[in-house]
Amino acid sequence: MKKKIAIIGAGIAGLTLANLIKKYTDHEFMVYERDDSLSLEEGYGIQLATNSIKILNEINFNKINNEKIFHPKKIDFYDIRNEKICDLNLSKFNSIEARYTTLQRSTLIEFLKEDIYTQHLRFGKKIKEVSELKDKVLIKFDDNTNDLVDFVIAADGIFSNTKSFFEKKKVEPKFKKAIAARVILNSKFDLNIYEENISLMLGSNSHIVIYPINKKKELNMVCIIRCKKYEPNNTKQLIQETVLKQNPKLKNIFDNEIKTWPLYFTPKILPSTNKKVFYIGDAFNGFLPTLAQGAGQSIESAFEIFKLLKHEKLDKKNNYFEVRSKRAKIVKNRSNFNFFAFHFSSSFLQKIRNLLLKFLVKRKFFVKNYLGKVYKN
Ligand SMILES: Cc1cc2nc3c(=O)[nH]c(=O)nc-3n(C[C@H](O)[C@H](O)[C@H](O)COP(=O)(O)OP(=O)(O)OC[C@H]3O[C@@H](n4cnc5c(N)ncnc54)[C@H](O)[C@@H]3O)c2cc1C
Repeated sequence: MKKKIAIIGAGIAGLTLANLIKKYTDHEFMVYERDDSLSLEEGYGIQLATNSIKILNEINFNKINNEKIFHPKKIDFYDIRNEKICDLNLSKFNSIEARYTTLQRSTLIEFLKEDIYTQHLRFGKKIKEVSELKDKVLIKFDDNTNDLVDFVIAADGIFSNTKSFFEKKKVEPKFKKAIAARVILNSKFDLNIYEENISLMLGSNSHIVIYPINKKKELNMVCIIRCKKYEPNNTKQLIQETVLKQNPKLKNIFDNEIKTWPLYFTPKILPSTNKKVFYIGDAFNGFLPTLAQGAGQSIESAFEIFKLLKHEKLDKKNNYFEVRSKRAKIVKNRSNFNFFAFHFSSSFLQKIRNLLLKFLVKRKFFVKNYLGKVYKN
């Protein structure tokens, strides 16, 4: 039976779901975005492993302009002094249809908005009130419009206001006592890295990730630094005291415009208390970026909701929460462990970690279990 769905939030999760519904079902839907436009800020890079590429291909991601994406084949591990530790072959998880992909977030959002922009996206929509009316949910927006729908899919990010509304308590993700600093590089400067791979440099209380985001050889550099407080005006000093102190030769890579943001995570995965309301993407659970799976999990969760909807199982007793939380826990544990292991400050622990890393990346069983389970291989 035809249903009416409100998707709250036009990020990767909400837009992916919208595309799947549009392409494969007759359900009526609208994406409500709080901001006045989509965030298409260039630069911010994103890695998508095969688990999410397979899903995106269902909505023709395989037809995207090839110049705007990249397929790195390996992760090269270095210490912060740029001494190589080992490498991990990523292409072993690839298939002909789905390859590990890196790109700008804006490229992905542009792609996702294409088919739904004119008819299925409304901007400047902030929820003011929600209530249940018979078997439906009435959403009132603060511009005095409203919508009566069968389902609400909250895809409004880690601070999900929608979740706060429906669960009647404020959603409070936790600050990880770390920040991310991002720069777009047009050159690898005098770094001894192979720029077609993903380079991961592990330092004390910090790590750096560099990878190509298109065929123009632009590189995305993200540096994660542990710190007690987020002080955006203090970024240069923090980089100097934490990263450059360990390797002054990295100075050049921080010369371009630096964007920073604090790292948050969801402390506890909780179910929706309303049968008509579902959380996807970061609204379901926000991960640390140390497994590069936030967007991937947003896409997966959208696909899970879509399948339930397509098979008319969303309003019956469904297993969305059980399936999603099981999956999220796998990713969460690995992201948290990476965060811990990437930042050892003791040189003794660093040496042990590097030895273990060298050993483990060559062990098929380990790689298949640690990453294959996430990339679904
Ligand atoms: C440093 C860093 C690096 C990362 N790198 C990667 C990576 O390499 N690979 C990867 O897979 N992931 C990565 N991620 C994570 C990834 O970016 C996120 O997990 C993903 O974008 C979440 O998508 P989302 O759609 O759930 O939420 P969001 O992208 O946050 O989108 C939410 C949308 O909802 C809107 N909104 C908010 N509140 C409301 C409201 N009340 N009403 C209506 N609309 C609202 C917002 O404006 C926004 O458009 C990284 C994250 C960080 C911090």
